[in-house]
Amino acid sequence: MAFKTELTSEDLSDIRQSALGAADPLGIAADLADAAEAGRLADKDDAGYALALAAEIAESRNKLDAALRYVERSVEAYGERDDSQAGGAQALRARILFRLGRTDDALAALEPLRPLLTRHTDAPAYITAALAAGGQARVAQQWLTEAVEQALADSGNTAEPSSAEDAGVLFFLLQQRHRLRHALGLQHDTHDNLAERLETRLTNAGAATAAAAAPDLLFFRQPEFDRLLEKLPALAEPFGANWDEHRGILERELVRLTTAGRSGLTLLPATVVGLTGFAGADGDPADAKVRAGYAEQLAGREGQIPWPPERNGACWCGSGLKYKKCCLPRSR
Ligand SMILES: [Zn+2]
Ligand SMILES: [Zn+2]
Repeated sequence: MAFKTELTSEDLSDIRQSALGAADPLGIAADLADAAEAGRLADKDDAGYALALAAEIAESRNKLDAALRYVERSVEAYGERDDSQAGGAQALRARILFRLGRTDDALAALEPLRPLLTRHTDAPAYITAALAAGGQARVAQQWLTEAVEQALADSGNTAEPSSAEDAGVLFFLLQQRHRLRHALGLQHDTHDNLAERLETRLTNAGAATAAAAAPDLLFFRQPEFDRLLEKLPALAEPFGANWDEHRGILERELVRLTTAGRSGLTLLPATVVGLTGFAGADGDPADAKVRAGYAEQLAGREGQIPWPPERNGACWCGSGLKYKKCCLPRSR
């Protein structure tokens, strides 16, 4: 298999979506690494991302030595960058080191990333995932607690944040910590209480939006999702800061609706063009009413994705994985 001569950022997100279910994912990983190193990327800044993607693909097939080689090249390609993507690559490197049994190296790789916990909304998730892969959930709990306290001190606000949006990165820290502490069987503390209050408000806001005929089950496939946040970063609040979170929000909402007695639920495959088109020149795609209206429009059309799939069937999100290995666990 060979890619066309030059890969764009969009090609990379398409590859990301399809590679895990492909017949020869390791071939794809090798080709990605090649493209990055032979300068066959339309945007040279994508080299770190392409190599991290190759590493993730190799990791998913348990080719950990290959995964480590790719991810080390990825970290090198990111160089001095300390944005969220670069941090994600370093956390991935730590995760692979843990899986190789190199616990000390993994911890040493993660330690310098701790300041990112209060800077990037997705850092709490990727740092926790790396530590959890190494059986270090209690260390993650400790780091998240310290970061929450840091964020609270930094905000200097004595008043409690009134919404998840208002809390910013603190919300992602609180939410990650709350989930992790439940998984560890720990009792609620004051930070968990705050996390729960903010989460409830988020759910209520969502429920108010969905009060119309069509529930707000807009689903953006991965390349669409990436384009969405690129174009309209404010939409990370209702739809999730990354595609994993987007799918988690939807899966939890579907479970919630089912628990509330709804059946025959479907996901509404949304597009950026569709949403902005529905909003029109004067409308705001981030407006809850606009989103609900677009959902209602899609609910009357073909192409909806029935939910839930069979446990062993293909996941609704199109990842190519079995539902029980993909989005099913996201509701927990
Ligand atoms: Zn709780
Ligand atoms: Zn899925």
